[in-house]
Amino acid sequence: KAKQAGGACVAFFTQDILVEASSRLTIAAELKRAITENELELYLQPQLDTLTGEVVGAEALLRWNHPVKGFLTPAAFIDVAEQTRAIRLVTGWLVKEAFSIIRRWESAGLELFLSFNISALDLADNELLERMTEELRRQPINPANIELEIVESAIIENFQSASAILSKLREMGFHVAIDDFGTGYSSLAYLDKLPVDKLKIDREFTSKLESGEGAGIVKSIIDLAANFKLRVLAEGVETYEQEQLLRSQGCNRVQGFYYSKPIPLTDFERKYLP
Ligand code: C2E
Ligand code: MG
Ligand code: MG
Ligand code: MG
Repeated sequence: KAKQAGGACVAFFTQDILVEASSRLTIAAELKRAITENELELYLQPQLDTLTGEVVGAEALLRWNHPVKGFLTPAAFIDVAEQTRAIRLVTGWLVKEAFSIIRRWESAGLELFLSFNISALDLADNELLERMTEELRRQPINPANIELEIVESAIIENFQSASAILSKLREMGFHVAIDDFGTGYSSLAYLDKLPVDKLKIDREFTSKLESGEGAGIVKSIIDLAANFKLRVLAEGVETYEQEQLLRSQGCNRVQGFYYSKPIPLTDFERKYLP
């Protein structure tokens, strides 16, 4: 009987793995089609200067208008894309999009930067660096208007290669931000060597600001950023009270639902383009 049950268990297990593997392959293959068929869309969320309250830039967040599954947020596909080479296609698409958006903004006199998210795989070789170089040649813009967001672990896991690439991008004038700061290694030994301009405090800490414990962590990150001469932004600001605390602690930048949810690029441009 035990053997029978075990057998059934193995059968289920195998089937689950097969289903999972095939859905991975499907998502990866479908992302290729998504790019050629224009199913990917960027939603923009403003980033504000805490002191002036002015919008200074925006983060591009990916959405997928899937023909069968409908409107998908990154939770439904980014992990799988990151585990396959599909993420590199996505990032390649993002680079082109970001440059053409900035070119449009610059020619309209809109002085905002645009940030987009990249993954560990994008820093495993020179493809991203080459794409950015090529795109800058094809669509000349002020590189300071483009910022790349990367989680700390993606740099530290492959430190030599990743930091060399990010350093080169910064030498070209692009900006780099550490995303979800505080959730990864956060090692002081590394922070000193990271080729970055900005720390983005993870939403988890912002959401705990109103409790004493959360406020201490946020204050530590803000002080850390100041000591390393980095900008610091709090992600996921949802309330006036959080904004007040962040301002009094000296946080330079804020982003979150309190100011705006991510909105479609066209809506963003309708609002901000002169
Ligand atoms: P992230 O880069 O840390 O982006 C912040 C996420 O928090 C976004 O979720 C945003 O919609 C959400 N958010 C912003 N403000 C608030 C707030 O006040 N409250 C709450 N509850 N949430 C807020 P989203 O768009 O679902 O993206 C999730 C993650 O997917 C991103 O985290 C990023 O890691 C990844 N991602 C998004 N777009 C891309 C992309 O184009 N490429 C790559 N590689 N990853 C992406
Ligand atoms: Mg981000
Ligand atoms: Mg984040
Ligand atoms: Mg994140």
